[in-house]
Amino acid sequence: MDLSLTEEEQGFADDARAWLAAHAEAAPDGGDLAAQVAWGRHWQRKLAEAGWVGIDWPAEYGGRGATAVQVAIFNAEYARSGAAQLVNRVGINLAGPTLLAHGTPEQCRRWLPGITRAEDIWCQLFSEPGAGSDLASLRTRAEKVEGGWSVYGQKVWTSYAQFARYGLCLARSEEGSEGSRGLSLLVVPMEGTGIEIRPLVQITGEAEFNEVFLDGVFVPDDHLVGPPGQGWSVASTTLAHERGTNFPFKEEVVHEGYLAQLFAEAARRGTLDDPDVADGLVDAYVALVVLRTHNWRTLSKLAKGGSPGAESSWVKLTWSEMTQQLSETALAVLGEESPLWGRWSRQWLWSKSASIAGGTSEVQRTIIGERILGLPREPRPEKTTQSQRR
Ligand SMILES: Cc1cc2nc3c(=O)[nH]c(=O)nc-3n(C[C@H](O)[C@H](O)[C@H](O)COP(=O)(O)OP(=O)(O)OC[C@H]3O[C@@H](n4cnc5c(N)ncnc54)[C@H](O)[C@@H]3O)c2cc1C
Repeated sequence: MDLSLTEEEQGFADDARAWLAAHAEAAPDGGDLAAQVAWGRHWQRKLAEAGWVGIDWPAEYGGRGATAVQVAIFNAEYARSGAAQLVNRVGINLAGPTLLAHGTPEQCRRWLPGITRAEDIWCQLFSEPGAGSDLASLRTRAEKVEGGWSVYGQKVWTSYAQFARYGLCLARSEEGSEGSRGLSLLVVPMEGTGIEIRPLVQITGEAEFNEVFLDGVFVPDDHLVGPPGQGWSVASTTLAHERGTNFPFKEEVVHEGYLAQLFAEAARRGTLDDPDVADGLVDAYVALVVLRTHNWRTLSKLAKGGSPGAESSWVKLTWSEMTQQLSETALAVLGEESPLWGRWSRQWLWSKSASIAGGTSEVQRTIIGERILGLPREPRPEKTTQSQRR
């Protein structure tokens, strides 16, 4: 098996690395979230103007028509450069691919360029207080009115809603429908009347996500993505990209860096032969190798024109466990009294969300059991063909 890059791919990697080395800027250290978002918009615009955002999108929408392998290469190079993650990642990773797959050419022309340049931040209005893993039990409703829809309901855990201009919203548009039937995918103007956004503070102390209350928010007809009542199939594209192909290549490189730092720190402290430290480092290393192997498999599938399918759940699960394992190891290596603890403490706290966001580990295990291992299906609510966030 030859896992090396072709000459063309190597040339692409070299170009990306050279551009990032010449132009990457350090993100502001600390400061409030609004200041970080303002800086993030500036940085993403700079990247977009050089053609390094949404690189697999068609050029007319701000991309450069890159192949899936080039996307993976770029994500790895981006992580290696240490640059801050994109501020409009919901727009780039979720809204963009959904619009490209199901939006009209007019919707793509209207929204995609603003997403790449971070002029319009997007959020994902899917989860509700009673509908997370079982997303299809959602209750937010869209009532048909003259020229559009009136949306009523409550969403929760909506990352970056307080900065967003648009929200990709899954709502029940057919009265009396249940489960995955009778839903529509609407682009909600987040600055419209009838919207209240209440930030929720996470254990990291930041308030990245929010409760969003929708009380008769008007959504024009041309903000409907895909046919009315077919929202579940449109949203399935969004969900596939949530665990999709972007993040694992980046995370592999990011965690290589974390692990190298921890090895060096343990060696400096002379604790490499401490059983807790040694076990933690080796377990984290093994998890990283497993992730890398999954990534190679994904890459060869993508190179042949395929898409990841149910294995993306395995990648998501592997990554969640790896990032939590590595953060625990940081505790063993550094101890809470370490002067380095400040930096790692955020990572440790943040890693707790890895097994929830984008579909919980329990749900990923069910998908792996049913779709990869062929185990018997978990009982589903009677009237739905499919209901879970998968
Ligand atoms: C950092 C972060 C950012 C997020 N950002 C967004 C966002 O921007 N937009 C958005 O729409 N959502 C967002 N979410 C929400 C996320 O998608 C949900 O939290 C997730 O889908 C789980 O739903 P829930 O929290 O309602 O938990 P629940 O679905 O209520 O699950 C509770 C527990 O029950 C378990 N469980 C549920 N069903 C099953 C089952 N069938 N079998 C076994 N166990 C089960 C779960 O694994 C979990 O342990 C975010 C979440 C986090 C943590």
